[in-house]
Amino acid sequence: MTETDRTSDRAQQQTGRDGGGPGGEALSFTHVTAGQRVLFGSGSAAAHLAAEVDRLGARSVMVIASERERALAGEVTAQVEVALWHTDVVMHVPVETAAAAREAAQAAGIDLVVCVGGGSTTGLAKAVALTGRQPIVAVPTTYAGSEATNVWGLTEDGRKTTGVDDAVLPVSVIYDASLTVTLPVEMSVASGLNGLAHCVDSLWAPRADPINAAMAAEGIRALSEGLPLIVDDPRSTAGRDLALYGAYLSAVAFSSAGSGLHHKICHVLGGTFDLPHAQTHAIVLPYVLAFNGPAAPAAEARAAQAFGAATALSGLDRLRDRVGAPRRLADLGFTAADIPVAVDIVLQNIPAGNPRTVTVEGLTALLHAALDGSDPADTSTITTTTTDLRTEE
Ligand code: NAD
Repeated sequence: MTETDRTSDRAQQQTGRDGGGPGGEALSFTHVTAGQRVLFGSGSAAAHLAAEVDRLGARSVMVIASERERALAGEVTAQVEVALWHTDVVMHVPVETAAAAREAAQAAGIDLVVCVGGGSTTGLAKAVALTGRQPIVAVPTTYAGSEATNVWGLTEDGRKTTGVDDAVLPVSVIYDASLTVTLPVEMSVASGLNGLAHCVDSLWAPRADPINAAMAAEGIRALSEGLPLIVDDPRSTAGRDLALYGAYLSAVAFSSAGSGLHHKICHVLGGTFDLPHAQTHAIVLPYVLAFNGPAAPAAEARAAQAFGAATALSGLDRLRDRVGAPRRLADLGFTAADIPVAVDIVLQNIPAGNPRTVTVEGLTALLHAALDGSDPADTSTITTTTTDLRTEE
């Protein structure tokens, strides 16, 4: 099932749709809770993994970790018999990379996939499980959150396709903040803001409801508290514990609420222009918040409260200043000439029920602002017309 099918397949949520959560109105919504074991504890990953492998009765374990994550993965799997190591990991999971990993897993008779690393590594484990149906135990080392979603992604000929399948939801997630102290501060900040983007975007996503809004709000609080602690003391696990906790909540909220406008934009920028995932999310988020926020007052107020700020945008701006967030898509290699192509693809995938009409003009202005790193507050004044509105449905 693709994400588009899933969006069009479901009824729109009537309550909490604008991320406000319970108010004075009657509550009416359908919420699905994903089943997953979460084992959390700094310094505990190796013991937790050994217990999970034992509990699952796995006999042939494949470990996926990129070369850069190989040393961490060695520590984590020290108490486990590993049948197959796989280190060929590429961001956004090109279909060729997926095919090679699937063949290796099949040839080795793998019955459990363990991934140790960032979202790219988890993504490859999901690609293996999508066809091989092996359970996954995920040990994340960034704040991307892929470990807590049933969303898979594959890239072919410059187009990234995502879909949902419960077979790719890791059966267990092992969080260990000590594994993330080696994540450079710049990457930690970008990755944490990627988690924050899951939270903010879920407040107006197609299946937003009071339950996922509560998780999103707590995710915003934890990430906005944790990231400055990481910047101040990258080797301490205090901020990293909070960031992992927030990343988990952000991903559960995102997986439950679905992709909002922010994710649709970043998905195209990553899949078609090969921009780095976390940095792209970090840069684009304030522009989408400024664009959608005024049309989603309950979501805006909920996020503002979670940031502890007068408005969501001022809270996000304060955090971006505090942690030295990346600011310009131009710094990632995106150019003005790319904007019309991006606009065309994004407009084919505007999420159902986005709080604000999205037009060629509005999206073009938003992307120009993100390209140059101009003041996000100006994005809220972008004028829109009703022409060129396209939705998924
Ligand atoms: P990444 O996994 O590519 O990691 C970024 C870099 O950090 C890599 O070089 C990696 O080796 C390195 N790294 C990871 N952990 C480290 C550590 N502890 N110490 C030192 N270096 C470390 O990037 P990401 O942002 O984590 O993940 C991006 C990918 O995840 C994208 O393809 C994105 O689409 C996908 N994603 C998917 C979902 C989903 O729900 N399916 C959600 C979020 C992200």
